[in-house]
Amino acid sequence: MVLGELGGRIARAIQQMSNATIVDESVLNECLREITRALLQADVRFELVSDMQTNIKNVVNLDRLAAGHNKRNIIQQAIFNELCKMLDTGKPSFMPKKGKTSVVMFVGLQGSGKTTTCTKYAHYYQKRGWKPALVCADTFRAGAFDQLKQNAAKAKIPFYGSYVESDPVQIAVEGVARFKEENCDLIIVDTSGRHKQEAALFEEMRQVSEATNPDLAIFVMDGSIGQAAYDQAQAFKQSVAVGAVIVTKMDGHAKGGGALSAVAATKSPLIFIGTGEHMHEFEVFNVKPFVKRLLGMGDLSGFIDRIQDDIPMDQQAEQKLLEGNFTLRIMYEQYQSKLKMGPLGQCRVDAKRPGKGKPSKCRVDAKRPGKGKPSKELDDNDPKHMDSRVMRIARGSGRQVAEVIEMLDEYKRWANFWRSKMKELLKIPKKGGM
Ligand code: GDP
Repeated sequence: MVLGELGGRIARAIQQMSNATIVDESVLNECLREITRALLQADVRFELVSDMQTNIKNVVNLDRLAAGHNKRNIIQQAIFNELCKMLDTGKPSFMPKKGKTSVVMFVGLQGSGKTTTCTKYAHYYQKRGWKPALVCADTFRAGAFDQLKQNAAKAKIPFYGSYVESDPVQIAVEGVARFKEENCDLIIVDTSGRHKQEAALFEEMRQVSEATNPDLAIFVMDGSIGQAAYDQAQAFKQSVAVGAVIVTKMDGHAKGGGALSAVAATKSPLIFIGTGEHMHEFEVFNVKPFVKRLLGMGDLSGFIDRIQDDIPMDQQAEQKLLEGNFTLRIMYEQYQSKLKMGPLGQCRVDAKRPGKGKPSKCRVDAKRPGKGKPSKELDDNDPKHMDSRVMRIARGSGRQVAEVIEMLDEYKRWANFWRSKMKELLKIPKKGGM
């Protein structure tokens, strides 16, 4: 889990407080001391931690709490609220709209993960029905062109760049014009990075920005720099209209918490975090779900979002999942929507697929989607009922019995996985307002 150690320490401090027979001043102080230590070690700025401590103490006035109030819940809620406050920028970011062309420019220092993040961002939106395109306007770093081109090819995203042209402004303008003509609705421009915040980098950024007139400039920064993120974010904000920030390398870096809180302190909307080198290691950043997960309180929205990387999902399906039902119909509809997305003969559900062993291929034949309409059986989520129907389903759909069994096995794995996930999450006591 991202920031696992920090979250674990805070959660343990709250748990220890909950285990105390009486929650008095000294128990509260010990809990806050441990949280403070954990945050400072994650490189969160001292002033922020100190404010947080004061605020919690103001909210949780143990003497004044009326008899009968659940002190533990009040303290836990106060800690949750303060952590949310610490990470909340209070400003929404520009959101690209499907079907309407948006130009998004990426800026950042070299090595921050900017080029990797451009493709992750494009891939994220592509999975959700956008038509993204990538433009490499980084003519400074040798290898940037090949890196972005290869990443784009891997993700099947159109790419524009030039080996010979050295003017990043010209490449950016040509690339944006080309993809506007091709009706791409999310044109992503990767710009050059430098080793430090030098004047040449800022000047180039300004020129590319002026020439392409982006709807959004995203500043990418490396989370391992901790609270130094504050000065870096401020410097970029002063040179180009940064509309959002993405913090990368949140996997395994103790200072990640410091970076996130520092970005929030600059009031720049934090929209995603990078959690690894791979394309899918990329998470939408939403404060409350993030803090819930940090504290091990479980959060369904983030989980569903991650499942969407494998199975694109509409709102109705999402709602059914939230109600705890992973039905055959959900699986059927998601496979159908995969088929609509392109000439897929095979739908692979493997990256986060529940169950062990080799990733199986669930074959969905585009030309022969099966005879007849999906029946009411698709809404029956009891796997026991399915086994007795295998022969009939095979006959009715014109499939081999083995294919039906494979499909039902796949379904059972997903249904079991979902049921156990729901159980795990429902164990968590619900707190008012979270
Ligand atoms: P750029 O110079 O800013 O364009 O940086 P790159 O995209 O080339 O990334 C620099 C290095 O950081 C590469 O080795 C990436 O694989 C790695 N990287 C990028 N994002 C992440 C992340 O979220 N986690 C980890 N662990 N590595 C990352």
